[in-house]
Amino acid sequence: MIYKNQKIYDVIVVGAGAAGVAAAIGAANTGAKTLLIERNPYFGGQATHSIVPTYCGFFTQSNPPEQIVGGIGQLVLDKLSKLGCYTGPKRTPNTGTSIVPLDMEATKFALDQCLLESPVEALLHATLIAVEVHDCCVYSITCATDGGKQTFEASAFVDASGEANLAALSGGGCRIGDYKGIFQAATLVYRIGGVTLSADAHPLKVQSAICRAKAAGIPHLTKELGTVIRMPEPSRDVIAMLADEDANGLDAWNLTQCEISGRRQAWAYLEAFRHYLPGFENAYLVQTGPQIGIRETRHIIGEDFVTQEDVLNARRCPDAIACGGWPIELHPEPGKKNVWLPIKDQSYYHIPLGALKPINLKNVWAGGRIISCDPYAFASVRVMGTGFATGHAAGVAAALQQNSTYADIGVIRKELMRQGAIL
Ligand SMILES: Cc1cc2nc3c(=O)[nH]c(=O)nc-3n(C[C@H](O)[C@H](O)[C@H](O)COP(=O)(O)OP(=O)(O)OC[C@H]3O[C@@H](n4cnc5c(N)ncnc54)[C@H](O)[C@@H]3O)c2cc1C
Repeated sequence: MIYKNQKIYDVIVVGAGAAGVAAAIGAANTGAKTLLIERNPYFGGQATHSIVPTYCGFFTQSNPPEQIVGGIGQLVLDKLSKLGCYTGPKRTPNTGTSIVPLDMEATKFALDQCLLESPVEALLHATLIAVEVHDCCVYSITCATDGGKQTFEASAFVDASGEANLAALSGGGCRIGDYKGIFQAATLVYRIGGVTLSADAHPLKVQSAICRAKAAGIPHLTKELGTVIRMPEPSRDVIAMLADEDANGLDAWNLTQCEISGRRQAWAYLEAFRHYLPGFENAYLVQTGPQIGIRETRHIIGEDFVTQEDVLNARRCPDAIACGGWPIELHPEPGKKNVWLPIKDQSYYHIPLGALKPINLKNVWAGGRIISCDPYAFASVRVMGTGFATGHAAGVAAALQQNSTYADIGVIRKELMRQGAIL
């Protein structure tokens, strides 16, 4: 069945990861009639759909850490706090960064509550599949649901799809991967239960266990050193990000192979841990995915651009709409060590409004990991704390746009700060 839904919105946000949730609530907080579309059965993007276990980027790497993301991101932290799942940032032993460990079910529930308490209309189980574009302006979007197609119109749109699906469908130019079309590695995240509380899951201990397992001939193991962390109380299960795949997130045939191969890796790591990691003898696999974590596919080509130098030199700018404080963390091909490059003085850089504005789409804004930046800057801006901040700004900018005229940067910044954003 194909039917036309007559609802007309001020702002439609595609994708309900960190960026999309912040964009939708940020837009609605200005008084804009806002619709949020998501293909999954829950909000949260990769935090809930790929069990990415921490919010990074809320804090700088300094000691003590400085909080640099507020606004809608803070609203989510407050909800997690009320559920007893957030008591402040945790400093990681190996990188010295400050993170927010997540319980994925609590995160789903916290995001439900944030959206229910906002005026946003949200539609899960709806996949954007088509757009109607006139004169570089998106007029409407069409979503596939199991009941048929639904079309929605809006004055302005936010692409928070993580894959720049809205921008690509609308004919906005996108860059795929880095300048050579190479993507950062994808990783299937898995959760392991049955680990004793005294077991030492420090990444270096895990690395030595994996090396021993490889030497003993356990097959299908790729990365040796990666993020392995304990979930917050009361679970204390272990989350491991080691099963790397050389995935093209835009190619379903390739993804099919990677999902299957990633699960094979997860079982191989479990075997390695049971044999070579004290305290893991009775460990079992609680969950993989559901989906392999895709770090990178498309990027918008924006009116402005965040560069590696901007990140490393902690560049500040007058048209800032967000702060980024996560070091450059680049995941090269599977099995290779990550590249870490710190921000000057363990401080933060500014993200300019133009990095959220695709050059040839007049009423579309972008938030999250698809914003306009070079490959090394991407390795910093992609984290979810920063995603909340850029998404929030994209939502506010979309809501304040009048036809093809963007609101003045001063007006956007003022509204963001009124909503608690840290600029
Ligand atoms: C393995 C791995 C580990 C990581 N570790 C961390 C970490 O520890 N901490 C951290 O902060 N970041 C981490 N990251 C990075 C981070 O998870 C992502 O960059 C971040 O989730 C991007 O947020 P986003 O809102 O832009 O997109 P996403 O989280 O990808 O959300 C996009 C949403 O859009 C939806 N969508 C896409 N297309 C459509 C469509 N056509 N119709 C409807 N809905 C659509 C998707 O279903 C999804 O829910 C990690 C990434 C990976 C892959």
